[in-house]
Amino acid sequence: MNEKHPTTQFETKLIHEGYESDKYGGSLAPPIFQTSTFTFETAEQGARRFAGEEDGYIYSRLGNPTVTMLEERMAALEGGEAALAFGSGMAAVSAILLGLTKTGDHILCSQGVYGCTFGLLEMMQEKYKIGHDFSAMETKEQLLQAIRPETVCIYVESPINPTMKLVDLQMVAEVGKEKGIPVVVDNTFCSPYLQQPIMLGCDVVIHSATKYICGHGDVIAGMAVGKKDFLGKIAMTTQKDIGGVMSPFDAWLLLRGLKSLAVRMDRHCENAERIASFLLEHPKVEKVYFPGDERNADYAIAQKQMKKPGGLISFSLKGKKETAQVLMNELKLIKIAVSLGDAETLIQHPATMTHAVVPKESREKMGIDDTLLRLSVGLESWEDIRNDLEQALSKI
Ligand SMILES: *Cc1c(COP(=O)(O)O)cnc(C)c1O
Repeated sequence: MNEKHPTTQFETKLIHEGYESDKYGGSLAPPIFQTSTFTFETAEQGARRFAGEEDGYIYSRLGNPTVTMLEERMAALEGGEAALAFGSGMAAVSAILLGLTKTGDHILCSQGVYGCTFGLLEMMQEKYKIGHDFSAMETKEQLLQAIRPETVCIYVESPINPTMKLVDLQMVAEVGKEKGIPVVVDNTFCSPYLQQPIMLGCDVVIHSATKYICGHGDVIAGMAVGKKDFLGKIAMTTQKDIGGVMSPFDAWLLLRGLKSLAVRMDRHCENAERIASFLLEHPKVEKVYFPGDERNADYAIAQKQMKKPGGLISFSLKGKKETAQVLMNELKLIKIAVSLGDAETLIQHPATMTHAVVPKESREKMGIDDTLLRLSVGLESWEDIRNDLEQALSKI
């Protein structure tokens, strides 16, 4: 909390939280503390810092002022007590999951998780005998049935990539509380502007800050938000000793990116609604997956827990599997790339890109057929995005 200007509104926190210019010679932009270590005035002071008897920085893997500013801002935005910054989204996911589990434990996951999170879970199973299962989590009963005595973590993504299926986070949080199991949510697709899982009762929020938090496609970074005690333990174990920390310069870029999060998200969402309507009516489009579509099975959940339906749309095409690639190659403005949440509109082909490692059968069960494409709608003029899609669709 900024003491001089206590802020209450989200949009103001994006810009002011965690930084007070008068403490830094009036510098409007926060300074980048580009240093690996911090000098102590005396030997005794060094000893007190190491003993935890005196606050202060020691070494940048344990903490850095620019990184702290970002952590304070993110904690406030998600409504958490504290936050930790990591060198990538996966560094955050692995620090939290390895921090919560030991051999013999079990993690219950939503029906789909990010590809590398899936890879991490497989590795944890193989090397450390930490098991996992997936559940659609459609009802309380279904979720309760999937929980085992050894379940120590419920891990959820919503919307689930790339089919945009949603999980009722409040329902999952209630079950977690009932069973005493922490609920961890990967909130990357929404950013705190659209969805705040901690406010819905969940325990930990993870972000690939690479995406909407950064917003400009020039940083790989991750964040975790949650209770102070819990994150304090993570900071002293899986963050400090595995070491996937964020650099001061990346923290600075994220502090800058966050300032425009609300205006960017509004534009992403507005553009996505218009593009989704266009795709829904296009004769060559088979199916559109978008949380803002009233015909979507999860529309009610979207209305309940998301401020707006987000900037991501998946859609499948009529015709042979090659049509998806033909369409992508005909696009002129829209870039072919994985990642999301950037100013540029990006398109990717899950069957051969993000989900290529998933066996075809499992892919089809998840609704990922060979003509499915995922679009991260950018900040360009929506007419230009539509025109590009229209001209490419006319070629297939
Ligand atoms: C990109 C992404 C990640 C991984 O984040 P990195 O910053 O690439 O390590 C995790 N979860 C989701 C939902 C993502 O989109």
